[in-house]
Amino acid sequence: MHGNESTIKEDGEGMRQILTERIKKAVRSRIYRTLYPHRPQFDCPICGYHGPFKDKVVKKTPLVVRVDSKCLGCAATERHRMMHLVINDVFGDWEASQKAILHIAPEECMKPQLQPLFKTYHTADLLQKNVDFNEEDVQAMSFDDATYDAVLISRVLTIPPDLEACVREIRRVLKPGGIAIIAEIYTHEKTVEFGKMVNDRSREIGVDFVTLLGQHFSQVERFLSEKYNDNFQLTNRMVIDGEPSGDYPELVQVSGIGFMDLVAVCRV
Ligand SMILES: [Zn+2]
Repeated sequence: MHGNESTIKEDGEGMRQILTERIKKAVRSRIYRTLYPHRPQFDCPICGYHGPFKDKVVKKTPLVVRVDSKCLGCAATERHRMMHLVINDVFGDWEASQKAILHIAPEECMKPQLQPLFKTYHTADLLQKNVDFNEEDVQAMSFDDATYDAVLISRVLTIPPDLEACVREIRRVLKPGGIAIIAEIYTHEKTVEFGKMVNDRSREIGVDFVTLLGQHFSQVERFLSEKYNDNFQLTNRMVIDGEPSGDYPELVQVSGIGFMDLVAVCRV
């Protein structure tokens, strides 16, 4: 059995760091609200911040910007806020306090939600060192069959060369009754395989990936961000060289604005 339960640093130095961080965040959001009094105001479900969100530059050439993306309280973006809401919905009545979750390629801002929710919270990654299990390749993981009750993986599956091997592995490490939460950006109707690495990616994911998930899991439920209140700002509002871009698959497209997040909740 794997060990290495994560621990929380609660000594004086740790508390000082947390306080300094909080003060910095409060000052930053105050400045932003003063500078941009007419920007729309939103609510962050993760940290409780209320106010404008910051635009995020995705790419410089061409200039791709996601408008109203980043929370000034906790730095969470659309996908983190969406995942937070889905986790609440899926694991709220699930006796998670008796269960074990594996968080692959863990996002720092999601740890405070997951760690207290589950009995065992493990993190794994191929390259990150600050995880419980590093050098874990999602195409061939080192864990025994049926080790975890839940697996969480977000925005990873464009990278490994063998997509179906990843899905098989996620299914394999889950116990009977287990749940995988899988989040990706859906940019096509059909997945485009590059056949080699292009900008550290093997593919762009299409909506047909949800069908592939259905071949490995007994039930796949699609959570779309339109399910949740607009004040959480979960729409990826894409602006490319100054023009709004809405060229995405029908299922996730927000016409003339961008795209919604789609999170697949897969049951063994
Ligand atoms: Zn926040």
